[in-house]
Amino acid sequence: MRIYRLSAEMTGFIDNQRKTGQKIGFVPTMGALHQGHISLINESKNDNNLTICSIFVNPTQFNNAADFQKYPITIENDINLLELAGCDILFLPSIEEIYPTQLTKEHYDLGSLETILEGKYRPGHFQGVCLVVDRLLSIIHCDDLYLGQKDYQQCMVIEKLVELKNYDLKMHFCETIRENDGLAMSSRNARLNESERIQATAIYDTFLYIKNNISLESLDGIKKTAQEALTSKGFIVDYVALTNEKLEPLDIWDGKSTIVALVAAYLNEVRLIDNMIIA
Ligand code: AMP
Repeated sequence: MRIYRLSAEMTGFIDNQRKTGQKIGFVPTMGALHQGHISLINESKNDNNLTICSIFVNPTQFNNAADFQKYPITIENDINLLELAGCDILFLPSIEEIYPTQLTKEHYDLGSLETILEGKYRPGHFQGVCLVVDRLLSIIHCDDLYLGQKDYQQCMVIEKLVELKNYDLKMHFCETIRENDGLAMSSRNARLNESERIQATAIYDTFLYIKNNISLESLDGIKKTAQEALTSKGFIVDYVALTNEKLEPLDIWDGKSTIVALVAAYLNEVRLIDNMIIA
């Protein structure tokens, strides 16, 4: 696997490859890689001649400084996993490469996406996500972009960014990879202690409860019970939401349209998010 640290060199290499007709797939990450990330690499390898992974812990998307400081960094292990998966290129830039002093910071008009759910609880977070993804896409001219549905709202935000900036690429929203007990794989899981790790499965159990009861109870009743179940397992809940596929809240269900259940909750210091398409 080739490793590039400089933006100009990264762009030069990719543009040369594209000239020779190579199709490029791109998987942006913040490292501390797990099989969820690797599933995106595998998807990209299926569709493209060259797969590029970036690892960059983006300071502008952390609305909480301690969360940024404590973000796990496991670069040697990440490189091993990427080599094993057959990733072709790793882009591993410094903060200065991504945010040179002359870079003018744009503001992205994300509409209501910025004020609901994650946007409400993490002010500024999605502007930071757009800033880094915009910068990465301007360095890495890819044909296909791979994102995890684990971050459902982020997928929608990046879809909006791609539309706003007219990036000519195809987006792929890939299924959430879970541990055997249902916990969604996440770099933040490494910060859970033994008992928190056991408690954390309550999120998946909550989705199963919602799925099994969606046509039996009112949506409000289901949300209330789900929230109480999480609280009783030691979570401090930011939200339990039931929405349509555009993340618009639902009060009633017509029995046939798509319902997405989304949860964000803290186990002590660690904030976990997850979602499931219920129907
Ligand atoms: P992150 O390193 O957390 O920024 O994630 C990088 C990419 O991997 C994002 O598109 C995430 O949505 C995706 N991702 C994270 N966890 C999972 C998972 N468990 N399954 C599938 N994709 C994931």
